[in-house]
Amino acid sequence: MDHGMHGGSASHLSFGVDPGVAIVSFIAAVVTAFVALEIAARALRAPERRRRPLLVVSGLTMGGGIWGMHFLAMLGMRTEMDMSYRLDLVVLSILFAAAGSTVALAIVARARVTRRLLVLAASFMGLAVSAMHYTGMASLQTTATQSWSPLVVAASVVVAFFASLLALGAVASMHGERSDWSAGGRLGAAIGLGVAVAGLHYTGMAAVSFHEGAAPTATAGGIDVSTTVLATVLGAAACVLLMVVTIDGARHRRRADLAGDLAVFARVSRDIGRRGDARRTVCLAAEELIGCDLAMLLEPDGDGALVVRATSGDPVNLRVGSSPGSSVCGDVLRSATRRFVTDVRTDAVADDSAADTTGVVSMLFEPVLLDDRPIAVLVAGWTERVESPGERRLAISSLLAAEAAVAIERADLVARLREQALVDGLTGLPNRRALDEALDQGVRRAGLTGRPITVAMVDVDRFKAYNDAHGHPEGDRLLSELASSWRAELRGHDIVGRFGGEEFLLVLPGVGSNVASRVIERLRGVMPVEVTCSFGVATWDGAEGASALVGRADAALYEAKEQGRDRVVVG
Ligand code: GH3
Ligand code: MG
Ligand code: MG
Repeated sequence: MDHGMHGGSASHLSFGVDPGVAIVSFIAAVVTAFVALEIAARALRAPERRRRPLLVVSGLTMGGGIWGMHFLAMLGMRTEMDMSYRLDLVVLSILFAAAGSTVALAIVARARVTRRLLVLAASFMGLAVSAMHYTGMASLQTTATQSWSPLVVAASVVVAFFASLLALGAVASMHGERSDWSAGGRLGAAIGLGVAVAGLHYTGMAAVSFHEGAAPTATAGGIDVSTTVLATVLGAAACVLLMVVTIDGARHRRRADLAGDLAVFARVSRDIGRRGDARRTVCLAAEELIGCDLAMLLEPDGDGALVVRATSGDPVNLRVGSSPGSSVCGDVLRSATRRFVTDVRTDAVADDSAADTTGVVSMLFEPVLLDDRPIAVLVAGWTERVESPGERRLAISSLLAAEAAVAIERADLVARLREQALVDGLTGLPNRRALDEALDQGVRRAGLTGRPITVAMVDVDRFKAYNDAHGHPEGDRLLSELASSWRAELRGHDIVGRFGGEEFLLVLPGVGSNVASRVIERLRGVMPVEVTCSFGVATWDGAEGASALVGRADAALYEAKEQGRDRVVVG
């Protein structure tokens, strides 16, 4: 490989390249490019935290490979000139190659890379690699002067651009689930990159001619610029493009982030309406959108403390004080002002119990306001120290707090409605619907466990007369008093419900007729003195359905009324 002219103009110096060194330099470029792509592929699959360092290593490897190829080829130059290298420029050329590859790789390693961003990044890397080449040439110290063919220089920059596009395109296409880059694919891309980088180098070398003394301006195609100027222009152009690509990349990322956030928000709003546990839905969304390790929702428990009502992970049993100065959470709730604590273990008022229970170190406390009234605190926690939450996280957490307010209001409304659907308004006892459910469940369980279950239908005697004598409101009061004294008398899993009107149903799981009679006697003993009741008792026969069981109890009650009221009849 010879450049220049032999035996031409006396001032024109020739140089050539040792073919062995050329081959070695090419292989070095391919191997390092392959390794760099391998590391980039791993980086893209790695968790967020390890991605960046791996990408830097990949970029440095690629830059190192390109530079190594170039300088090996320079060392392999055979020439009649005396040559040495200026160290500072050599270092600068390494920086161009390393920074160019690393920054460009980092830009395209992001999710959702547009074609425009890819071309911009490749242009930047191409210019940086060209700047590397011509800075390398400028570092070459000879007695000769160098002159340049502008067309061939431009061609070398174009080659550098395509080499960069190849490498960056390979990395960009390794993204996502679709990517199935085999080792063979990566090797192909690496060989392509090696060819292209070698192409850049030798095109660049073809653009130069060396002359003894001052460059003859008359030389065909030569321009009278120093190599230093050429390298400086290319370096400066690379810097300008870096700025463009960074600004464009940042704008692109912001737009992509915004689109992603909006999509998650839309989903959260939908889920809050649809999913059973709205509080947990908010916590899950907070974990995803804020990017924290644990999100919790704390609410006043009515006893002067705040308790965790939902989390994005496992249930957390945590209760913090809400009096002034006793916890950050309490202060945030009272003042309705957000707080961020970098390290809850060292902060004076921070809840270190939270750190002990959940393992979080940094916490963001966001007040949840419903119509300007603080009702809860949304907490985002990180298990590793976070210096500052950043503006995006703060904006998201306040939006999520607004969602949480709606979620809590809605969840409480649903809970109230559900309760109302199962509770009798006058007495506070389970209503007919709840009784039906409890009975079905009780009979099913008795069938499984083989234990008895007894029910009693109860009717207030001559209640119409009582109403007529004292008025309906007094009748209501009496029913309510009856209900609460019975409720107080019964064990936890015994049920007394209002069957309708002045009729009640007792459900006694695990109880046979003898024990049931004793229970009923106790109930008769705590009744308001103004009235009496009749009871019809039936114990499950081991086969009948719930309604048949109640039917037998009802028949027994009828019997009790027949026999003169104020008595218990076992059916
Ligand atoms: P007995 O059961 O002993 O045969 O006589 P009774 O007077 O209790 O029976 P009846 O079925 O004739 O009357 C039931 C009365 O219960 C009629 C109604 O005024 C009264 N009652 C039903 N529900 C309520 C209620 O919610 N509040 C009040 N105050 N009275 C009610
Ligand atoms: Mg009745
Ligand atoms: Mg009655």
